[in-house]
Amino acid sequence: MKEIRKGTQAVWAGEKDSLAFGATQVPVVHSVSFGYDDMDEWYDVAIGQKQGHIYGRNTNPTVQAFEEKIRILEGAEAATSFSTGMAAISNTLATFLAPGDRVVSIKDTYGGTNKIFTEFLPRQKVEVVLCETGNHQAIEAEVAKGCKVLYLETPTNPTVKITDIKRMAAAAKRVGAIVIVDNTFATPINQQPLVLGADLVIHSATKFLGGHADALGGSLCGSKELVEQVYHYREINGATLDPMAAYLLLRGMKTLKLRVEKQCENALSVAKFLQTKEMVEEVFYPGLDSHPGHEIASEQMTNFGGMLSFSVKGGVETLRLLLPKLKYANRAANLGSVETIVGPTRTTSHVECTPEERAAMGIPEGLIRYSAGIEDLEDLIEDLEQAFQSLPKQLLANG
Ligand SMILES: *Cc1c(COP(=O)(O)O)cnc(C)c1O
Repeated sequence: MKEIRKGTQAVWAGEKDSLAFGATQVPVVHSVSFGYDDMDEWYDVAIGQKQGHIYGRNTNPTVQAFEEKIRILEGAEAATSFSTGMAAISNTLATFLAPGDRVVSIKDTYGGTNKIFTEFLPRQKVEVVLCETGNHQAIEAEVAKGCKVLYLETPTNPTVKITDIKRMAAAAKRVGAIVIVDNTFATPINQQPLVLGADLVIHSATKFLGGHADALGGSLCGSKELVEQVYHYREINGATLDPMAAYLLLRGMKTLKLRVEKQCENALSVAKFLQTKEMVEEVFYPGLDSHPGHEIASEQMTNFGGMLSFSVKGGVETLRLLLPKLKYANRAANLGSVETIVGPTRTTSHVECTPEERAAMGIPEGLIRYSAGIEDLEDLIEDLEQAFQSLPKQLLANG
């Protein structure tokens, strides 16, 4: 499977061992347990001497096919899965961080991840250092002081900031730290963190991997040695991926490359269109030359992803009028689906922050997150155009 390309992997990889009865599609195996008439065989499977399944909290054939597909897409030695992306993140951090350990990360991680860093890990007496996202010298300096884990996310939510994975992984290697990258926004189609030097790659499969906003899930890929430790934590603590969700994610992943390519194309064109609008203050998309992370993104990504954000003049008042006018967009908190999704950052990813905290993070109150879907580009542009034209004239004058 190593030599075949991403689009072919997305369709074919990982499914063979979970097929049964000559079916061409992976079955949804809902059975909680797996029975054995031969006591020796049961024992061999239980101690991992023989391939097989024992109990659904540990492994399941449908879930295994999902793990195999993401493992191959990320080019990893091993993979495991979780009930959600947050379970993947919390279980992985809990596996490697103990009281007295130090973890270095960035300020712009996903909202839930940020809560783990600011609320839960300090309670466990883990020292958390959050650096300015994009300030590579600052991250290197903190890592050089020694840490157990360097945790990165690139591009980030909501202003799609870019971190140089190769450079940061090299700094972490010098102090023996484990490098974890949340690859949710980029997807394995656009970015391969393991090739760039990361030790572990995390996904919220809920987003681009599944791609249809109908199943929650998370994944972790990396070396067998590291992934097995996290698998052990998860099998005991119980944040297991449900077989039905695994099936939906697996089916969604078959079209991953097609979807992501179209989403990248739509996102770039929408970003360029937004730059021409008088009511738009600033557009954030790593594919634009004006984006501060453009150069690094061009180096480490094959394309710039389906996520962008933009701020509007008149702030909240404008977005309150603008967003309901869009016909081809869900106004919702998720991202990465086949449908275009929009939402104010103050309501979605950074709802827990005060306006002052958001301002300090460089997030204007009128910032809108835009997750490009796979619709025809012309319809998305026309939809935005009519929404902008519907804004009252006095708002334009005030803006
Ligand atoms: C959504 C998201 C998560 C959390 O995933 P869930 O499946 O919602 O738990 C983590 N990281 C990023 C970048 C996300 O967008």
